[in-house]
Amino acid sequence: LAPTPYYFTQARDARLLLHKRDRFSNKGSFGHALLFVGSYGKIGAAVLSARACLRSGVGLLTVQVPGCGYTVLQTAVPEAMCRPDKNQRVLTGQSEVESSDPAEYATVGIGPGIGKAPETLVMFRELLRTLTKPIVVDADALNLLSENRNLLDRLPRNSILTPHPKEFERLTEKWDNDYQKLTILREFAKKYKVIVVLKGAYSAVATPDGDIHFNSTGNPGLSTGGTGDVLTGVLTALLAQGYDPIEAAVLGVFSHGLAGDRAAEQRGPIGMTASDVVDSLRWD
Ligand code: AMP
Ligand code: MG
Repeated sequence: LAPTPYYFTQARDARLLLHKRDRFSNKGSFGHALLFVGSYGKIGAAVLSARACLRSGVGLLTVQVPGCGYTVLQTAVPEAMCRPDKNQRVLTGQSEVESSDPAEYATVGIGPGIGKAPETLVMFRELLRTLTKPIVVDADALNLLSENRNLLDRLPRNSILTPHPKEFERLTEKWDNDYQKLTILREFAKKYKVIVVLKGAYSAVATPDGDIHFNSTGNPGLSTGGTGDVLTGVLTALLAQGYDPIEAAVLGVFSHGLAGDRAAEQRGPIGMTASDVVDSLRWD
């Protein structure tokens, strides 16, 4: 009998996945990540994902935001470097200040708050043409994939996609029941050789081998704007640190949910915000 390809991630599993820090480490040991986030009116998504990335152990972080987000980001997140986009309102990938090739970074996270401007699609297409290491793809970057399905084959192998159910439905098809949803999820991850985190209560992490890891942490207090952007920052940080992408997804989703549980303890599930989730991240 084939073993059931289902797992349930609990505290002991997460503890085994966590990398310990070497006493003789330096920031170069933990990778330099690049986030493409935010657009006019959604610079908050950039701030949340950047802060979450820094709270998750990344060595160095550069954030590309539209020009209008430059002062906001440098003020709200002094630990991050900022590449202001030449475009004031949306991302084009072109920066006046710094123009290192995205492929030179340990990893890239893209999506929170970016919108679907034509210039942004051009940038995303160019990124997918040049990147080879696994990346994190969320939010409007997923919606761009839904509307430009030929790009799905260009995703670097073992990239982590983090759709909520609506985003996943746009990428795939409507399902009638949970069994069908899981079948669609598993087939998608296998077909495109990516890791898919289908978010919600008991988020499901599907791997290219057909396994599904259900998460045990998290609560309805996470049902509030910005918590998904936090997850993007967390996962980007773990990839930058050299975590195996499947382990990054399983551990990141667990720790994000646990931070949500701590935030709910402190502020209550109704009062907690995505910023509280960032501040509740702990890695021990
Ligand atoms: P997004 O919809 O992109 O903002 O992401 C929402 C985040 O909150 C995801 O990480 C979800 O897994 C999490 N989340 C939302 N609602 C719940 C819930 N009822 N229980 C556990 N996690 C949730
Ligand atoms: Mg989201």
